[in-house]
Amino acid sequence: MNIFTPHLFRQQFPLIESHDNSLIENDALTPSLVYFDNAATTQKPQRVIDCQQHYYQNINANVHRASHQLSSKATFAFEKARSLVQGFIGANSVKEIIWTKGATESINIIVQSLARNTLVPGDEIALCVSEHHANIVPWQIVAEQTGAVIKVIPITEQGYLDLDQVDNIICERTKFVACAHISNVLGRINPIEQLIAKAKSVGAITVIDGSQAVVHLSVDVKSLDCDFYVFSAHKMYGPTGIGVLYGKRELLESMPPYQAGGEMIKTVSFTQGTTFNSLPFKFEAGTPNIVGVIAFAESINFLAPFLADVLNAYSLFEQKLVHHCYQALANIEQVNFIVEGIPDIGVIAFTLTDHHNHDIAMALDTQGIAVRSGHHCAMPLMTYLHTDGCLRVSLSAYNTITEIDYFIHSLKNILLEESLNQPDKRVSEEVISEPSVKELEEIIAIFTSTKGWDSRHREIMLLGKKLPRLDKALRNEDTVISGCESLAWLKAESSTQGIYSFTGDSDAKIIRGLLVIVFAAFNNKTAQHIHQFNINDYFETLGLMQHLSPSRGNGVLAIVEKIKALAQQ
Ligand code: PMP
Repeated sequence: MNIFTPHLFRQQFPLIESHDNSLIENDALTPSLVYFDNAATTQKPQRVIDCQQHYYQNINANVHRASHQLSSKATFAFEKARSLVQGFIGANSVKEIIWTKGATESINIIVQSLARNTLVPGDEIALCVSEHHANIVPWQIVAEQTGAVIKVIPITEQGYLDLDQVDNIICERTKFVACAHISNVLGRINPIEQLIAKAKSVGAITVIDGSQAVVHLSVDVKSLDCDFYVFSAHKMYGPTGIGVLYGKRELLESMPPYQAGGEMIKTVSFTQGTTFNSLPFKFEAGTPNIVGVIAFAESINFLAPFLADVLNAYSLFEQKLVHHCYQALANIEQVNFIVEGIPDIGVIAFTLTDHHNHDIAMALDTQGIAVRSGHHCAMPLMTYLHTDGCLRVSLSAYNTITEIDYFIHSLKNILLEESLNQPDKRVSEEVISEPSVKELEEIIAIFTSTKGWDSRHREIMLLGKKLPRLDKALRNEDTVISGCESLAWLKAESSTQGIYSFTGDSDAKIIRGLLVIVFAAFNNKTAQHIHQFNINDYFETLGLMQHLSPSRGNGVLAIVEKIKALAQQ
């Protein structure tokens, strides 16, 4: 299937196909999945899944090491994949293609192997304000280690890297310029050609984070003339845990190994010293993710023809989806796009007036719609845009117009729904007549008698409404729960007998509901009980594990960690 045809393309993805979304058209049932979180990771086509299985059933052996046929077969497939990636991004040599765990590891290699050994105090590193944390934090660490300084390039109103500011920021002191080809929040194709040219004019090394680009654009590192280009397989229909560090050969040659072990050595001796392997193996210590590499090649074989198609059918279809979704969202009064204009790729970020992004994402989830809410690993961008988070719809070419229409319809319904919009009359009466503090047994009784995520979600929201709001003065640095993606606060009191009681609040209704559930487990308990309590078992009992397994993302883990930290034994 080399010519892009939307329904044939979609059919390649078993996880998508197994949820029968044709039901949306008949309005008969809620579809079980509308997957709009493709910027986080894409689904995998059958041939990639089969390829992994085929590898383990037929080829599995360690690479480069053994003198037997099976190992040769595995090594051949492994190195063939490297050549494929070389061709896919237009690199000069296979020596320039290093396998890593993904974009994050690729950036860390550049930073710790090259930047750490070359930066001196006062040198500058230029980053765009919209970078993913993976392209910020490694640089912050190296700045700390070397005395270098980070300079931040702002964005325009439309969300592009601001070229007008680049001239003021990039100067003779700039040694590294790191920027995303496409931001994972703004969906803008940054003018990296101009950025690279500017960096080169001052002799700075360029690091381009292609994580969001490679699935949408044909990339040619030679014509870009960047020094490094990094990406992950899992965002381009490939497996997780494998990615690429492309680097110009002379730079990679100059860099010491990042990790040491097998494969990256030439000779090892206690008396003569150890010598390192040549590129690319110098950077590939230990047994690599062989199956990942081979399945990654399969995903490139799947994707590359669509990107190379002169008729551009794949990209045009993606554009059609973006335009449709953007226009429909623009017609909803409460929608505020976080930057101006239709994004260049299918990543649309917005907030909703008077609604917390987590509440909307959870409500959409009850309708089978998977979107992302929060800071999207771009907290500096959120600060820059004066928001603490947003919703992100990220589309893939296997999505459909029907799915978008269903999403818009569901979103409008959610916004209309009384429970989210206005104080519910029945509930406000209950607030007065019912105590807000729930006992554990009561919570268990509510959830074990409630079936389905939709109903359980409603119960959580109702519980949230019963939580008394924390006095504004108490929402401060001391009470804030760090790590929770919404703003949330927790206050503990303990009696002389060492019995704890907790109060809390959040700007997201769903978190307020979760606070009530968590408090039921921890209130009026000793520190010992609090530390022994197993939150996972509790969520399992409540039937919430599948939907809200305690994590920092949904806040539960961050709340529990803070409770445990406050309950000193
Ligand atoms: N950069 C960008 C722009 C991304 O979107 C991501 C993943 N969300 C990363 C870097 C990190 O990728 P990975 O987690 O696969 O290493």
